[in-house]
Amino acid sequence: MPFHLPPVSRREFLRRSLVAGAGLLTIPALRAADLKADPNRWALFSDTHVAADASMIRFDVNMADHLRAVVDGVRALSSSPAGVLVNGDCAFNHGLAEDYATFTGLLKPLSEAGLPLHMTLGNHDDREVFWGAIKDARPAAPPLASKQVSIVEAGHANWFMLDSLDVTNKTPGVLGDEQRTWLSKALDARADKPALVMVHHDPVFIEGKKTGLLDTAELMEILQPRRHVKALIFGHTHTWRLTEQDGLLLVNLPAIGYPFNKAEVTGWVDCNLRPDGMSLEVHAHDTAHPAHGKVSRLNWRAA
Ligand SMILES: [Zn+2]
Repeated sequence: MPFHLPPVSRREFLRRSLVAGAGLLTIPALRAADLKADPNRWALFSDTHVAADASMIRFDVNMADHLRAVVDGVRALSSSPAGVLVNGDCAFNHGLAEDYATFTGLLKPLSEAGLPLHMTLGNHDDREVFWGAIKDARPAAPPLASKQVSIVEAGHANWFMLDSLDVTNKTPGVLGDEQRTWLSKALDARADKPALVMVHHDPVFIEGKKTGLLDTAELMEILQPRRHVKALIFGHTHTWRLTEQDGLLLVNLPAIGYPFNKAEVTGWVDCNLRPDGMSLEVHAHDTAHPAHGKVSRLNWRAA
């Protein structure tokens, strides 16, 4: 779901009308031509944990300062990304309306620069409160009435953004039957392009572990046989890590807010899509961190 912050420029108004008119949650080709954004470059954000009070510190980190720094970093890029994907835990802890007011205020320079923002929700968000905070940007007919899901078209791939928020401020997450059924159909309807699935909670492959996505096995039954699904991208652990399972890339995005472990990198990930894969580059807050500036060139699994 493209999410724009006021004031709405004429261009944005026209674009929103186009989206509504087409009945699709996609970015019209008009935008790329209009703003010369790169349709294959995407800024990946996760776990911003912004509190109402912008001076709030957690684990020695001011989360608002961290988000401000990445917003500045994206704005300073030589070529504009097609959009920004924020993978949940937008809010500090409880998903308060005041948290979202600060959060959206910090993102406003990106919105004003014409960048669409697309969100998923994490366990520190509150769905109803979030929807209240972005009410002007919610589509009239969202793909699923009960969840924050969207499909975002990129040049070489489609992003499928899921909602694993179960209970606010409780650690585990779940997709549920209705969302998984929707995902299966949505993936089958778009099998002509690589599919990249984004969800806040990490997939859990250890039996009995209850901190990540509780219906991981059911999700994998959907993703693994559909060979056009190339990557599962998640956050939640505040850890930057690349692994794979049967060729499906598993990308754990770093937190923008704070790390649980001080040695972990924080920052955002610059994603550049190719027809046969993608490159990911971490832009760390600490430019002396070994992960900073490292480009991982990844290839899609065979169809
Ligand atoms: Zn988090």
